Amino acid sequence: MPELPEVETVCRRLREAAIGAEIARARVFRPGTVKPQAPASVSRRITGRRIEAVVRRGKNIFVQFSGGAVVRVHLRMTGNLRVIPDARLYPATTRVLLAFSDGRGLIFDDPRALGVLHVCGAREAAQIAGKLGPEPLSPEFTPEVFAGIARRSKKPAKLFLMDQGHVAGLGNIYAAEALFRARIHPARPVNRLSRRKLDALHVAIVSVLKQALTSVYKAYRGPDGIGGGGDFPVRVYGREGEPCLVCGRSIRSIPQGGRSTYFCPGCQRA
Ligand SMILES: [Zn+2]
Repeated sequence: MPELPEVETVCRRLREAAIGAEIARARVFRPGTVKPQAPASVSRRITGRRIEAVVRRGKNIFVQFSGGAVVRVHLRMTGNLRVIPDARLYPATTRVLLAFSDGRGLIFDDPRALGVLHVCGAREAAQIAGKLGPEPLSPEFTPEVFAGIARRSKKPAKLFLMDQGHVAGLGNIYAAEALFRARIHPARPVNRLSRRKLDALHVAIVSVLKQALTSVYKAYRGPDGIGGGGDFPVRVYGREGEPCLVCGRSIRSIPQGGRSTYFCPGCQRA
């Protein structure tokens, strides 16, 4: 599932390829992707408009059009938003196609069809963004801000990190990796963590995301989608039963919020 580094990579590629492009026609191949909006209304609101900006907030993509319309996309599990050189040659898993007047196209490609695409106005886009916590790679994400948010939550550390209202953009992989680097047990309630531990977690979140972003951006080439995490050094995620690279204990997995959390019982005691 794409997290901040993958979604930011998609946005960077769109900024490189799609800014200034004019939408000649829009086709919704799968009405469920734009539900509860009608395909015809989605099409009407962006046809003839130009793409002016691509903005990411958390795992949300906001494509801003001339005239004020905003297309908001959430990729969920398998979604990808990308430009293809010929709008007529779209893959079978394309859910929405925005054909450019220059012959190219922007496609929302989503094999498992769990992602969503909606058209909204600037105010509605701001409302969606306003419900999210701070951007972890922005200057506003200071150790003080992070500690302040953590003090108000009794959630287990892993679930706290995955709640988009607390910190925007972390998911199952990078939350687990940040907790490992900060040596924090994923089930530990965040409001019981010392300030020193919270500061270590803050540093870990920023370093994990920066490293992952560099690696994902480098790995993301060609038409194969977001791909893996590139050369990002995964230390706990998906490594159940394998030895910890730091202490040698076996990596364990526990269920949290319906997902598997990977951690090292040797390194992550506090
Ligand atoms: Zn360990």
